[in-house]
Amino acid sequence: MAEQQVVADLREKSATPPSLLRDVAAAMADEMCAGLEMEGGSRVKMLLSYVDKLPTGREEGLFYGLDLGGTNFRVLKVQLGGNDKHAISCESREVAIPPHLMSGSSSELFGFIASELAKFVADEEKGTSLSNGKTRELGFTFSFPVRQRSVASGTLVKWTKAFSIEDAVGKDVVAELQTAMQKQGLDMHVAALINDAVGTLAGARYYDEDVVAGVIFGTGTNAAYVEKANAIPKWEGELPSSGQMVINMEWGNFYSCHLPVTEYDQALDNESLNPGEQIYEKLTSGMYLGEIVRRVLLKLSLQSAIFGEIDHTKLKTHFHLRTPHISAMHHDDTPDLKTVEEKLKEILEIAGTSLETRKMVVEICDIVARRAARLAAAGLAGILKKLGRDGSVDKRRSVIAIDGGLFEHYSKFSKCLETTLNELLGESSKFIVVKHADDGSGIGAALIAASQSQYR
Ligand code: ADP
Ligand code: MG
Repeated sequence: MAEQQVVADLREKSATPPSLLRDVAAAMADEMCAGLEMEGGSRVKMLLSYVDKLPTGREEGLFYGLDLGGTNFRVLKVQLGGNDKHAISCESREVAIPPHLMSGSSSELFGFIASELAKFVADEEKGTSLSNGKTRELGFTFSFPVRQRSVASGTLVKWTKAFSIEDAVGKDVVAELQTAMQKQGLDMHVAALINDAVGTLAGARYYDEDVVAGVIFGTGTNAAYVEKANAIPKWEGELPSSGQMVINMEWGNFYSCHLPVTEYDQALDNESLNPGEQIYEKLTSGMYLGEIVRRVLLKLSLQSAIFGEIDHTKLKTHFHLRTPHISAMHHDDTPDLKTVEEKLKEILEIAGTSLETRKMVVEICDIVARRAARLAAAGLAGILKKLGRDGSVDKRRSVIAIDGGLFEHYSKFSKCLETTLNELLGESSKFIVVKHADDGSGIGAALIAASQSQYR
């Protein structure tokens, strides 16, 4: 039958046997080296973060964090106890980014962010004199590729995910934010500019010295890790006294001929805001998994009678089926797949499906999410390989801190990621710990702001 052929094809083209994953891991490790060797040496940019000191637990004082991801932004305020007390009190607020600001102008976006930040500060400090006349210090988590020359500045290389604000590309995002804050009359100094992967690494390192990498699977995907300063040939200038540097990999742009790319991925990429770019991200992150499934379901419907006579408007709308929806269907444990039935009807206007058909939909979600999780695990194995921490050289405990809505909420994804990593590492997996770092990225920014501001 036509529908079975479509699914069988998808299954075959999406296969990720261990041999393929090992090739992907090796390619990732090679690209890391190439990206460190020279500017432009790899699609994986391996950007210097200028973070050469990670939090130790001794940080003290009041700091602010601002986290601009792909969907929401968060503002937060942390009180650090100092002296390894780890006594953090943390207040935070999450604000959705109005979609029209994602493709407007730079000043509109930063103006909105600064005004929300100003409101938060005003509410938080009502009736108190917390800042004692001192300028407030802020860490800014900005999760798009930025080229940095210092820890507190950076020019935007390009937008990813759903953002596309032409006039911001090439500008210093810290200066943009600082100007917008000034307009709001907000007395705050941006002490550090980082991205969410670096923030996750810093936030997790604050509690655990063995953390070697921070990784995000959210709207997009990225990874950051601690590199030896003398293993970065492209670095010009003085090496830091710590002998270390956090590298912001920007691994979403990774590509290898070993990646199992299907016709659906190709079409998605062609019709995306950034064709040819972020291929690894398009296979493994939350913005895209629902969209891949939608494309498969559309093909099924056009090539077979499986859904009956339906109106295709919803099924033809790009990004209409979202990753949380496929996650809900994939985790449906009712015997007659009630949730799948509901979602198909509510979101795609596909009603009256048979149990057989609903099982097929679950299988499609499974194929797409499993491929994503297994490729994600291969990426992690690549980092460990590059560090010699895959059991080959360095047998110390190594912790990988992971955050992001996909990892946090899509449990079949996160479980499969962990199982696959163990499968790839074999015996050596006993040295490796995968940890969920809950909201490390915002706190991480405040922590890096804290360790930087000590030297101001
Ligand atoms: P960001 O990447 O924008 O900083 P998050 O880390 O919170 O934000 O990730 C949000 C993404 O996580 C969403 O775009 C979505 O793809 C994914 N996500 C959120 N909730 C779920 C869920 N219940 N199941 C699967 N994926 C989810
Ligand atoms: Mg985030």
